[in-house]
Amino acid sequence: MKPGAIEKLTNFFSMLPGIGPRQALRFAYWFANADKSVVGGLKKALDELESVKKCVSCFRIHAGGNLCPICLDLSRDRSKIAVVEKDTDFETMEKSGVYDGHYHILGGLISALDAESASRLRLKELFGRVKKENAVKEIILALSATPEGEFSARYIEKILEPLSRDRKLKMTRLGRGLSTGAELEYLNRETLKNALENRK
Ligand SMILES: [Zn+2]
Repeated sequence: MKPGAIEKLTNFFSMLPGIGPRQALRFAYWFANADKSVVGGLKKALDELESVKKCVSCFRIHAGGNLCPICLDLSRDRSKIAVVEKDTDFETMEKSGVYDGHYHILGGLISALDAESASRLRLKELFGRVKKENAVKEIILALSATPEGEFSARYIEKILEPLSRDRKLKMTRLGRGLSTGAELEYLNRETLKNALENRK
């Protein structure tokens, strides 16, 4: 029988995106065999997670106060909000340096097969934010070119339709220079730049 600590760790690792039970078990044993300083370092990093914040406007994870540095940055273009699935997509876009607007982190994608999935995302928050911020003129749906990304884009367009009608809010998607199945997180700078420039 496996020690309880291994079981517990395996259960935690199994919750990570893309990690199956076998891989989770391998991680648990790896930590059990690792140097004490490695385990100590992990504990410390996990403790420090308590101090990270979720921005009340864009829902990005950041280190500071209620609003993240990007939401506070007056030099950024307030007329654009890029809707992305997750924090790592934001990282990819921001690192590429090809975008100067604001963001909204959805917190996942909507699955046609999971009726509950939409309720877990920050859709109401997106609607409320766009409604409140009159400076917003364009919503860029920067989602992956996967079936779920497509489905989510259509869903969001529908939700925001009343606003786009009343306010002439433009809704765009990344240009289809993106090959089918392309996940935003893994795009290189050039591809992302082209996709942004060719958005429609
Ligand atoms: Zn923010």
